[in-house]
Amino acid sequence: MSDMRVGHGYDIHRLVPSRPLMLGGVEIESEVGLLGHSDGDAVLHALTDALLGAAGLGDIGEHFPDTDPQFAGASSDRFLTRARQLLAADGYRIVNADLTIIAERPRLGPVKVEIRRNVAALLEVSEDRVAVKARTREGLGAVGRGEAIETHAVVLIERAKA
Ligand code: MG
Repeated sequence: MSDMRVGHGYDIHRLVPSRPLMLGGVEIESEVGLLGHSDGDAVLHALTDALLGAAGLGDIGEHFPDTDPQFAGASSDRFLTRARQLLAADGYRIVNADLTIIAERPRLGPVKVEIRRNVAALLEVSEDRVAVKARTREGLGAVGRGEAIETHAVVLIERAKA
């Protein structure tokens, strides 16, 4: 028998000119990028929160405060790698991760495969354990107006029952 836990994470970042667009640790060709204290990677932030949540280890803001100068401009793969290490230290392995990215612009269809490959590498799991889905918001709200990108992440983790 294994001890299974599910976690959910959500994040949204504003799109602004003159910033690189990082999603899932992949730099995507775009005229606008995500504003944030770190690189603003809403995919990796949502996924990090999902992992921390599943293991009952708090949230990304507690581990990596956006007031801490050491995280200014930080590449968000740092946060995900740290969360993976914390889970491994507690005996967990990642069963799967399911990501939904909601963006009106740019169109993410062509880069989903690359994001999936990179996220799987960061999580140290095979690609079949990671799903990346891209949607628009049908023109509704801030995301629909192309002012922001948001992501939902769901993960399942497990460890042997004590
Ligand atoms: Mg964030």
